[in-house]
Amino acid sequence: MYFAKKAVEEEVDQMMDTTVYACQSESCNGWMREDFVTVDYNCPMCGTEMSQEVRELPKIKYDHQFYNK
Ligand SMILES: [Zn+2]
Repeated sequence: MYFAKKAVEEEVDQMMDTTVYACQSESCNGWMREDFVTVDYNCPMCGTEMSQEVRELPKIKYDHQFYNK
C-alpha cells in the first residue's frame, strides 16, 4: 500500500521582473512598484522625481485590501 498522494502546494515566493519607479535622489532609497506609483511619479518619501527601472521582486499576491480605499 502506498500513500504517495501529495496535495500540499508549496507557497514559494515567485520572483519576477517587476517594473518599479526608483527615487533619483542619492540620499533616498525610496521606490515603488509600478502598480502603486503616485500620480505624478514623484517619490512618496522626499518628492524627488523617480525613474523607471526593472527589478526582480517577489510576486505580489493580490487580495481585496488593495481595493478598500
Ligand atoms: Zn526619494
